[in-house]
Amino acid sequence: MAGRGTDAPAIGIDLGTTYSCVAVWKHDRIEIIPNDQGNRTTPSHVAFVDAQRLIGDGAKNQAPMNPANTIFDAKRLIGRRFSDSKVQGDMKLWPFKVIQGPADTPKIVVTYNGQEKEFLAEEISAMILGKMKETAEGYLGKTVKDAVITVPAYFNDSQRQATKDAGTIAGLNVIRMINEPTAAAIAYGLDNKTDIVGKINVLVFDLGGGTFDVSLMTIEEGGSFEVKAVTGNTHLGGEDFDNRMVDHCVREFKRRWNKDLTGNQRALGRLRFACEKAKRILSCTTQTSIELDCLHEGIDFSLKFTRAKFEDLNMDSFNSCIETLETCLSDAKMKKSCVDQVILVGGSTRIPKVQHMLQEYFDGRELSKSVNADEAVAYGAAVLAAKVSGCSDKSVQEVVLHDVTPLSLGISMLGDVYDVVISRNTRIPTSNSKSYVTTFDNQSVVGIHVYQGERSKSTDNHFLGNFSISGLPPAPKGMSSVMLCFEIDANGILTVTAAIVSTGKMEKLVISNENGRLTKEEIEKMVSDAERYKLEDQEFKKKADAYNALEDCLYKLKNKLKDYNIKTRVLPETLKEMETVIAKTTKWLEYNQAAPFAELHLMKVHLEFVCKPLL
Ligand code: AMP
Repeated sequence: MAGRGTDAPAIGIDLGTTYSCVAVWKHDRIEIIPNDQGNRTTPSHVAFVDAQRLIGDGAKNQAPMNPANTIFDAKRLIGRRFSDSKVQGDMKLWPFKVIQGPADTPKIVVTYNGQEKEFLAEEISAMILGKMKETAEGYLGKTVKDAVITVPAYFNDSQRQATKDAGTIAGLNVIRMINEPTAAAIAYGLDNKTDIVGKINVLVFDLGGGTFDVSLMTIEEGGSFEVKAVTGNTHLGGEDFDNRMVDHCVREFKRRWNKDLTGNQRALGRLRFACEKAKRILSCTTQTSIELDCLHEGIDFSLKFTRAKFEDLNMDSFNSCIETLETCLSDAKMKKSCVDQVILVGGSTRIPKVQHMLQEYFDGRELSKSVNADEAVAYGAAVLAAKVSGCSDKSVQEVVLHDVTPLSLGISMLGDVYDVVISRNTRIPTSNSKSYVTTFDNQSVVGIHVYQGERSKSTDNHFLGNFSISGLPPAPKGMSSVMLCFEIDANGILTVTAAIVSTGKMEKLVISNENGRLTKEEIEKMVSDAERYKLEDQEFKKKADAYNALEDCLYKLKNKLKDYNIKTRVLPETLKEMETVIAKTTKWLEYNQAAPFAELHLMKVHLEFVCKPLL
């Protein structure tokens, strides 16, 4: 990165389950930055091939050939525990291996550089974020430091914190995190600025690759965005639709050939790839087919897929999207007739049945497709990035955001009773304090267990962490109290402090590693690991370039030797010497494909020196 300035503007990154996108405010507008392949979105895939690490298109393209070492869906693992039923369910369909790490954290196992390596979801996400950072740096010609990263609105505290950690591991300073539907609404608001008169109610329906969010918000003329309610499902999206198609193909294969292909990872990888492609085709035609030669035990597989079959396989998911939408409206206490615009975001909103059901729910209303379903989230994130980093443009500075917390936060009381301290859909940043009295005589320590969710039994909610406060003066039960203060920052991240009322002693919730969070030291180690992987990538590329250069040089020299005019100009002994060195180098290259850069380079220098007359 030598020679690059350090004043690159802050970027906005949409870190998606299946695709990611990066944007920046430049030339007085938002620019979506294409990657090295010219694509405006980058697959959220990371692959390990021998000594090479591939991220993005390169990784996704080779996935069917290398299923066990091609990682996708890291967003489905981030901030979750290994024993989470969703993780257990996903694992059955992933061609890569996931194991239980310390403190029930899931770890992804791959073979890299001939060795087994374990990665956390944060590290894989950091690799994707690193790729987006590099894409922006290539485009801007400067080192990028600051970024706004988007998260699904329905992500809980652990998932948000883990995403922030991923940003840090990637070498980014995460200046803000923003909910994906809110970011999309900003894109809509800025694109339709002149049409917004007074206030309008907007419903953002965001169905992506792995998550589903519904946000109801009010956009005011001049650029104020106020979220009224959010609902969602952090485990529903295009990947689930693909999985249903894969399941169907597996059943069909079993029915036809009485053979189970679930143990064949390569076959499953190829099927998944073909199903996703077929799903997209079914959004514009009513019928397609899946054709895979030699899928399993030499058997070719061919299956006709109709749109009706696809809809039938996924109808329960589509229905649950509408139920979630109803909850959002009821949380916001808004009738559907009061919604002025329904905005579609996320690749899976292209599914005709989804659009049809949504339109039907809103009594035939036209759905707004004015924002780009794949890019709107990154667009909004880049606007916020420009605002937070002080861009002076009027339309950027006018943007005012009021978001809400998607899930209630509280503590566990005696008898596993969940006591809410901050209710869901409370505007953030926010804080609330509550006092709790001792539950037995002379209680000197109070344990505080923090949960997030809507269930009345604490343990049915998501456990965020625990800590305790000691030193309470001896007193009868109920006479001594602890004041708890819950604070949620603008990123939606929670801090809990406890204070003994009589003495003023305070403790802060530091969610420990047992809860799946990373410590400062662990993050630091991962940052240096990420740097090391980056250097290894650069080393690999240098070596590959040297190999190709030598091969190319040999090819050119061999062709020149065939040229009669050149041959006659050279002395016979020199010609012989050149032929010998070309033959020897060709043989050497055949047996030394893994040679280090220095050797490859020296071989080329020697070759060019001997064959100078030909060059
Ligand atoms: P996103 O997370 O917004 O990038 O959405 C990616 C998801 O959208 C993936 O599961 C894609 O398979 C899905 N997708 C993209 N285009 C289409 C389409 N035309 N029809 C159905 N699904 C699509």
